[in-house]
Parts: sequence; structure tokens; C-alpha cells
Amino acid sequence: MKITRITVWKKDLALTKPYWLSGGRLKFERLDATFVRLDTDEGLSGWGEGTPWGHTYLPAHGPGVRAGIETMAHAVLGLDPRKVEHVERAMDICLPGHLYAKAPIDLACWDLMGKAYRLPIADLLGGRYEDGTPIASSISTGTPDEMLALIDEYRAMGYRVHSVKVGADIAADIERIRFLEQNRKADERILYDVNRAWTRREAITVMNAVAELGITVEQPCETLDDIAAIRPITPSPISVDERLETLQDMARIARDGLAEVVNIKLNRVGGPTKARRIRDMALAHGIQVYVMATGGSVLADSEAAHLAQSIPTESRLGTWACQDMLIEDVAPGQGTRNENGDLRVSDAPGLGVEPDLDLLGEPTAIYQ
Ligand code: MG
Repeated sequence: MKITRITVWKKDLALTKPYWLSGGRLKFERLDATFVRLDTDEGLSGWGEGTPWGHTYLPAHGPGVRAGIETMAHAVLGLDPRKVEHVERAMDICLPGHLYAKAPIDLACWDLMGKAYRLPIADLLGGRYEDGTPIASSISTGTPDEMLALIDEYRAMGYRVHSVKVGADIAADIERIRFLEQNRKADERILYDVNRAWTRREAITVMNAVAELGITVEQPCETLDDIAAIRPITPSPISVDERLETLQDMARIARDGLAEVVNIKLNRVGGPTKARRIRDMALAHGIQVYVMATGGSVLADSEAAHLAQSIPTESRLGTWACQDMLIEDVAPGQGTRNENGDLRVSDAPGLGVEPDLDLLGEPTAIYQ
């Protein structure tokens, strides 16, 4: 089987409401999504999505996804998409780094492999655990009451896990955390996500002030060096999200004991081929895992759900359904959807969802 054509679509995905991250420092209203289809000489096609969460969250942006694909297209055409590590190597030689631009191509190769072997991606990744993965809501920074009202909206949809965005004025953060912990239900889990906003001193101050609550704090500071510095003098469990990009990062986190939890964002780490190695290293060190897309449609959510469901239940903390934050659905009725707070992949081969071509409009680029 050979890849004969790469077709790229750009699509703006508007959020249902404005979203503030990192204590209100960053605002988001729409996402610049890229959809990629790989066609093959055997008539099968595979899909991948690359949707950064705006251009301020990570060093990634929509035009960068499309420019990266333009640069790598000649190296990918003619390869067998089922040999995902060959495609990975070709892309890494052609364009070092730029993992977020490689992810949609890698994802489309896994979709094709699943269709060729008639297995869902989760089974190709080692085998599905049957239970669905709890969806984490994404609670925008606001006043404690505003944040609890948002949590209530997600509770009504069955959500039991919440990723609550803090990282502003630290006195306000302490108040938010205390208030939301008081209002947390017994069967709920709340991850307090700082999105890199605190300095080392601020992280130590907040985490020690709420130490008795036993909360988990995600990406409290900017770098792994920062986390290494605060780790010995703060008792709260830590999750690393933004600064987990490579297998080498995961090796450092595991070796140096920097975190008890990691958040594998499929598009940030370059797709399932690289993500499965990070998954395995985390599991080998007793580190629990969230798996998410960086944002996007039901395709992106389904991609993350497949990797998530290949992780044993006790190590799998949650995933995300960004689709629930978008106005438009590019694949109505398809893919993994919220089932009382869980995402669950189907028996369909490959990814199990393809966008509606009428909703995508005209392609932005075709390489063949
Ligand atoms: Mg996070």
C-alpha cells in the first residue's frame, strides 16, 4: 500500500463561548483546525486532525501545521502508511521538531492501518480496555461562583472529572481552590491546571497553603527545571502537561520523580507513534495518565480516546471532549461522543469517524 495523495483542509471552529486560560491571561474564541486525508493506491483513505488550542497555548499554530505538511509532503508520498515508524522517520529527517505538524499525518496513517487490518486504533495500540474513559471538563478561569456554575453545567452532562484553570493572583487562586474543593462531590476528581502561570515562589506559596487538601496541580510553572526546583518543597501531587513533548522529557520526568501524573496531548507529542512510547514509559514508572487532543473536533477527541482506552483503567485518569465546546460539528452522528461523562471508542476499524466533506468546503492544498 502506498500513499498517493495528501489533501489538506483549513477550517475555523468557533467556541460556544469565550474561554480564559491561565488566570485570564489568555483568551480564546475560535480554533484554526487542519484536516488531512491520505489517499492510497489501494482505495483506502485515512484521516487526521491538527488543531492547536489557539497560537498562545503552545508553540504551535494552524498555519504552522499546514506549512509543515507542505514541507514534508514529498517525503511522505509513496510510503506505506501501515509502516508508521518508516513514515515517522521520513518526517523526522525531512523536518526536525515541529511535532504538532506531524501529528495529523501520523494519525491518518494509524487510521489507514486500522482500516487495512480491520481493527480500531486502540486495539492496534495494544488492546482496548472495555470501560470508557472519563471526560474532564475544561473550566475557564473566573470567580469561584462562575467556575462552580460552569462545573454544574458539565455535571448535568454526566462529567465527574474537571480540569479547572487557575494561575492568576495567588490569593484568588487559593480562594478558588478552597471553594471548589468544598463544593466537590465525593465521586468527582478536580485537576487544578495552572498552565505554566506561576513563578516558583507563587507555586510554593499556593501549593503549601492548600497542602492539606491533597489536590493535584497541573503544570504549575513554565519549565521542567522549575518543577524540579519546587518538587522537594511542595507536597501536592504534580501533573506535567505542556512540557511533556518528547520521550526524553518523559524519561526525565520518570527518572527525577518530577510528577505523579502526565497529560499526553497527542498532537503536541507528534501522534500515536511517539505517544505510545511515552505512555509505556509513564506506566512503567507508576505514573498515571490523562490523554487529550490539543483541541478540535470529534476527530481529535476520537484520536485521543483510542490511545486513552489502551491504558489500564487504574492508570487512566481521563480525556477531553473539546467537541462539547464547539458550535459546529464536522462529522454529525459519528465518532466517540459523551456517554454520561465517558468517551468510548467503537469497534469500527481505524479511527471510526470521517468529516463530512460538504462541511469542510474546498481543500486548501493537494499534494500528489
Ligand atoms: Mg493542562
